[in-house]
Amino acid sequence: MPATVSDSRAFFYLTMTPNFDFATALLDWFDQFGRKDLPWQQSPTPYHVWLSEIMLQQTQVSTVIDYYLRFIARFPDIHALADAPQDDVLALWSGLGYYARARNLHKTAQLVVANHGGTMPADLQQLTALPGIGRSTAGAILTLGYHQSFPILDGNVKRVLARYYAVEGWPGKKHVESVLWDYAEKLLPQQRIANYIQAQMDLGATLCTRSKPACERCPLQSACQAYALGRASHFPGKKPPKATPIRQTYWLVLQNDQGQVLLEQRPQTGIWGGLWSFPERVDTADLDVYCQQQWQLRLNSQSMLSPIQHVFSHFKLDIQPLLLRCESAGVTDKDRGNWYKIEDTLKLGLPAPVKSFLQSLQQ
Ligand code: SF4
Repeated sequence: MPATVSDSRAFFYLTMTPNFDFATALLDWFDQFGRKDLPWQQSPTPYHVWLSEIMLQQTQVSTVIDYYLRFIARFPDIHALADAPQDDVLALWSGLGYYARARNLHKTAQLVVANHGGTMPADLQQLTALPGIGRSTAGAILTLGYHQSFPILDGNVKRVLARYYAVEGWPGKKHVESVLWDYAEKLLPQQRIANYIQAQMDLGATLCTRSKPACERCPLQSACQAYALGRASHFPGKKPPKATPIRQTYWLVLQNDQGQVLLEQRPQTGIWGGLWSFPERVDTADLDVYCQQQWQLRLNSQSMLSPIQHVFSHFKLDIQPLLLRCESAGVTDKDRGNWYKIEDTLKLGLPAPVKSFLQSLQQ
C-alpha cells in the first residue's frame, strides 16, 4: 500500500479522476510518441540494457548514443568487456564522467563471467549484489532484458511520480524515495511491462522535464496533482543547499625537450580512479627536490599556465597547471608514469579537464 498523500489531495485525486488509468494513458501515448529507435532498443539483451542503463545515469540520451555505439563496437558482449584491460574501458568512457560507473561496469562483467557463466543473472537479488547495479537498474534489466515484471525508479520516473502524486520532499531522502517506490509498484500494469517502463522514462525525458514541463501535451494531465495545484516545477523537492567546498591542486605538466609530457595513472579509488593525469601537488614547495626524487628529473624552467576550475557533484577543484620543462632523461616507472607525445595521450583514459587541457597544448 503506497504511503498516503495528504487527505485533501487524496480527496481531490479521488473525486477528480476516479477512473483514470495511469498505465493505459501512458501506453497509448507511448504508442504514438514514445522513442522506439534508440540503439539499445534494437537488440534489448540483458547486456545491452545494462550497458545503456548505466550510461544513461546522470547523462542525456543524446550524449549517450555515440558512447554506446563505440562501446558495443569494441565490446560486443560481456566476455569482450570482461577480458579488456581497464584502461581500454576507461578510454572509451572518457568524457562521460562519473568514472566509478565504468570501473563498476568492468568489475561486474568480470564477476558475471566468473560466477554466472557470462550471463547477466535474471534475479533481483543477484543483480543488486553486483557492483553499480541498484534496484532501479536491476528492474530495467529484468523487465526490458528478461520480460519479467519489476518497477524502476530512475531520475525521470522519480520526477513523473513526484509530480503526479505531488509528493513533497527531496527524493534523495530515504523516506521520500520509499514513497515513490511504493507508487511505482502500485502502478505497474499486468501487460506490456517493457513498453510501460520505456514509456515512463520517455515521458520524463521528453514532456515531464525538469524545467518547463509540457503539461499541455501530457497524457497524465487530467489526474496529475502537481498540475492541478499549478505547481508542477515545485516537484520533486530540491536537494537542501549546502555550500560547495573548493579544493586546490597543482598539476605538474612535466615536459621534456622532445615535447613529450609525463602522465601517471591515478589510484583506482578516489576521483578519476584509474585514469591518466598529471602528477599533482598541494603546493609548490621544493618542486625541484620532488621531481628529482620522484622522477629523477632535473628542472630547467617553470611557468604558470592559465588556471582551470572543474566542478564535481560535491566539490569544485581549482587547478593551477605548472609547466615544468626538464631534461629528457629521467627514469619513469611504466607502472606509475610515462612520457607521451601529446597526440598519443588522447588515446588514454583521461579525465575531461585533462583531455581539454592537452588538446589546448596541441594548438
Ligand atoms: S501534467 Fe505536467 S507535471 Fe504532471 S506528469 Fe504531465 S508533464 Fe508532468
